[in-house]
Amino acid sequence: MTNSDTDAEHRNNLVAEMRKEEQARQNGYRERALKLFPHVCGRCTREFEGKKLRELTVHHRDHNHDYNPPDGSNWELLCLYCHDHEHTRGVQEQRSSSGPADRQDGPSLAHSPFAALGKQLKPPK
Ligand SMILES: [Zn+2]
Ligand SMILES: [Zn+2]
Repeated sequence: MTNSDTDAEHRNNLVAEMRKEEQARQNGYRERALKLFPHVCGRCTREFEGKKLRELTVHHRDHNHDYNPPDGSNWELLCLYCHDHEHTRGVQEQRSSSGPADRQDGPSLAHSPFAALGKQLKPPK
């Protein structure tokens, strides 16, 4: 029975091929983005060339790394620092927007029915 052998071999080849394609896709969009755009960070506008080019990364505007339109409309070249900032910014904005709301809840609770209840429960002299 050589049939199962070739089947297994074929499958292994397929997996290897898919892995290769996946890697090519991952590396591919950076290469393509670097060809499409000038090698400049979109935030701090620093220029990157030669060895420094490694510090220039591709940011996905919609944060979906699988969405890679060939025209580069979902890509933005950002240096490592600005890229990091870009991803933590959203988190910080979320925190600060929920922060004040939480604090506003505090004082309003003090004027809750419980406070009035406390006064009513005081025994009259
Ligand atoms: Zn930058
Ligand atoms: Zn990003």
